[in-house]
Amino acid sequence: MSVDPIVPVVTPDFEPFFEAAARERLVVQKCSACGRLRFPPRGVCPDCLGNESDWMEVSGRGEVYSFFWMHQVYHPAFAERAPYPVAVVQLEEGPMMTTNILDCTRESLVVGLPVEVVFELRGELHLPQFRPRNP
Ligand code: ZN
Repeated sequence: MSVDPIVPVVTPDFEPFFEAAARERLVVQKCSACGRLRFPPRGVCPDCLGNESDWMEVSGRGEVYSFFWMHQVYHPAFAERAPYPVAVVQLEEGPMMTTNILDCTRESLVVGLPVEVVFELRGELHLPQFRPRNP
């Protein structure tokens, strides 16, 4: 039986992120006052408490900072994927993203693995995910 994919709900804070993802661009917030890059989006800079920000395109390259393998199937849409890796990727520019790592195995997924963004079509949303890359 086929199950509809899980598609994230796009909140107003995330609209610029998913608009960029639809063009296969990865963006993060940049504080207008101190220049700190941050993700996920929020209204106030955690460094300087400035409340003005812009969006900046990043390289889409990073490395695996941490990960685990999800075995629990909380929704039927994930049944065919499980077990699947959930990871924190640190981008070359600094911010971290919680994501899935595609195209990897239990043997190949390690902390420090170089990865690059890919945009997976889920419903009508382009969801940034990561896959291994050559360093
Ligand atoms: Zn700031």
